[in-house]
Amino acid sequence: MVDVARVVISDFRGRHGFLSNFDHAPHRWEQIDYPTTEHSFNAGKSLDMGVRLWIAEARTPAEAKRRGRSVQLRPRWDEKVRYEVMAEVLAAKFRAHPDKAAALVATGDATLIEGTMWHDLTWGGFCHCGRPACVRPGQNCLGKLLMALRAELREQG
Ligand SMILES: [Zn+2]
Repeated sequence: MVDVARVVISDFRGRHGFLSNFDHAPHRWEQIDYPTTEHSFNAGKSLDMGVRLWIAEARTPAEAKRRGRSVQLRPRWDEKVRYEVMAEVLAAKFRAHPDKAAALVATGDATLIEGTMWHDLTWGGFCHCGRPACVRPGQNCLGKLLMALRAELREQG
């Protein structure tokens, strides 16, 4: 019997940078074009199209994230809507970029876990900052959505 160690991809940089929400990957979501899914996800926090455009125009994903922190959250964002929006913007991104979709499918059955340094234990799978508050596994919601999308893309061939 051979015990095959499960492959884990936990560094969404370099050759796996296409898995990151900071990846430059222009796509359209709900009538607006965004340069990254960090932009579209943060825009999704608001239902105001003016606010969404303001976030779409942020020069960097980090700036889009900052702008997203200042908006009035739409109803049920934290408990529900944010997961739906993330799934939608990821689908929009990978459908707009067949090369990235192929690269995602090519990760096979690898477990996708975003390792963070920024204490995000909701989207991330862990934080290696070293603070006591971060010494626990995260929910890995981004990784889970990426794996679900991978299964969908694989089925569609
Ligand atoms: Zn941390």
